[in-house]
Amino acid sequence: MDIATGVGILSGIATICAIMVRFPFSVIMHGLSMGIRFAFAMRSVSRHRSLPPIDRSALATALLVSASLPANAESLPSGFVRLRELAPAIAQDMRYATPFNFTGAAVPGYGRRECVLTRMAADAVIRVERQLARQGYGLKLFDCYRPARAVAAFNDWVKRPGATDLGRIFHPGIARGDLVDRGYIAGNSSHSRGSTVDVGLVRAGAAALPTPGDAGPCDGPLATRPHETELDLGTSFDCFSGKSALGHPSVTNEARQNRAILAAAMSAEGFRGYGKEWWHFTLAKEPFPKTPFDFAIE
Ligand SMILES: [Zn+2]
Repeated sequence: MDIATGVGILSGIATICAIMVRFPFSVIMHGLSMGIRFAFAMRSVSRHRSLPPIDRSALATALLVSASLPANAESLPSGFVRLRELAPAIAQDMRYATPFNFTGAAVPGYGRRECVLTRMAADAVIRVERQLARQGYGLKLFDCYRPARAVAAFNDWVKRPGATDLGRIFHPGIARGDLVDRGYIAGNSSHSRGSTVDVGLVRAGAAALPTPGDAGPCDGPLATRPHETELDLGTSFDCFSGKSALGHPSVTNEARQNRAILAAAMSAEGFRGYGKEWWHFTLAKEPFPKTPFDFAIE
């Protein structure tokens, strides 16, 4: 019996064992495909007759490992992707990885400024971007998958005396302790299921604006509030204010129009909005409708 046949038999036994201890289907299939690929790798190096068998086996293993590693060494759970790897041109400003968010500090779980989403949500975002490009617009993402530990940190922050707080910018008319009751901070967030995005509208081809710095209240005039895109959307992102509600009557006509363009494009690709926040959308047919995740973004 040659090595390839031996490995094939071992892989078969391992697969049966995996089924018996009820590994998830994806793990079983992965194990099976690794076994098959190893056997093929052995076949492809078997013509190197000048190498002793042990070296041929090492070469096959090296071929297999290099074919299996993701481009970025940090792997994600199955079904998740980094949007940047699929669509580098879509603007991102992952604000919870920076101190410029309502808590005034970077949020636990956000080790990198990287939009991570389920593959289904990422594909839908890419379709929205394509559709908007035809109208002269584009997207800018502010938050994507949110680790459950970040949601817990928000709920702790609401109650913690002496916590840093950019309330004068992000919740100018609402006390920190009231943000949960007013529907701006949730005990569980759909973001942790990986198919929810916080997103703004930009003009196609416009230079990306950097993360805003110190600014006036988020629901104040366009000239003094944090500036994330060159378009008027009525308030800044994450503005905990009545003016962030989709149909609020006191925003400008232009802002109402921009919100409507964004909402229509998102809804055409299967996202559902949230009436109180013009930026928040969840994929209606999400792949993990009941599962919050807590892996860190690294
Ligand atoms: Zn959101």
